[in-house]
Amino acid sequence: MNQYRILLYYHYTQIDDPETLREQHLKYCKELGLLGRVFISSEGINGTVSGTIEQTDLYMNNLKSNPLFKGIIFKIDESNGHAFKKMHVRVKNELVNFSLEDDINPLDITGKYVEPKEFYNGLNDPNTLVIDARNDYEYDLGHFKGALKPEIKRFRELPNWIRENKHLLKGKKILTYCTGGVRCEKFSGWLKKEGFDDVGQLHGGIVTYGKHPEVKGQLWEGNCYVFDQRISIPINQVNHVIVGKDYFTGEPCERYINCANPECNKQIICSEENEHKYLGSCSKECREHPRNRYVLKNK
Ligand SMILES: [Zn+2]
Repeated sequence: MNQYRILLYYHYTQIDDPETLREQHLKYCKELGLLGRVFISSEGINGTVSGTIEQTDLYMNNLKSNPLFKGIIFKIDESNGHAFKKMHVRVKNELVNFSLEDDINPLDITGKYVEPKEFYNGLNDPNTLVIDARNDYEYDLGHFKGALKPEIKRFRELPNWIRENKHLLKGKKILTYCTGGVRCEKFSGWLKKEGFDDVGQLHGGIVTYGKHPEVKGQLWEGNCYVFDQRISIPINQVNHVIVGKDYFTGEPCERYINCANPECNKQIICSEENEHKYLGSCSKECREHPRNRYVLKNK
């Protein structure tokens, strides 16, 4: 059991030739036998990979010993197998698409790092506003108790949403959080640039918070959406509550499926019962699609 690991990491650093690094890195990952998804850009690296203990040890040591990635932090989950089907390394303009006209470099400006214990205290402080920096469908599966939910489908919509809802932030201490921390590096920097001065970001993100030996993920409600085959993972080790709601009935549920229409693929929270009842599809159009996977599979 648990002979595999899933690594999650990012590191902002100046990379002069992302394409060459992409080729080298893909070759290296394949030789090691890792599976996963890695993004490289001129501003750094962001990835999640799975492999055996030996493979992941070699990988982490390799990156840590590269001066380019000095100080890189890995979040490690144990697993019974791989969490990906393939190994991809891609070059992107940004590690996460924020699309600012005037880009933020977290190496120059970012919110102060807040460790889990201090973040927990912030959750209990009425003068602190905790903002979820993720997308709405991630929030819907699980979030920190009382956290502000921006109504956004993509990270790049966040700055506009904040500008339109600026009154909510006025006079508050601000704490931001995301899955592993990579989005908050930019988002918290952007908030500072926008003129908010007391801005902190949860260091290491939700996944690190869930592993803290004292905090134990408390005040997290629901599950945490992740970008691998697990889809979601538990965080709160003390008191797990379900906040996800079935797409069709609104009943408590934390099970995700992809709409069976291959042209839709929308991720919906849905019980096994309703998956069968609604043919695994999010709408009438999707149910009637000629290439509906559920219909083809179940005749
Ligand atoms: Zn659909």
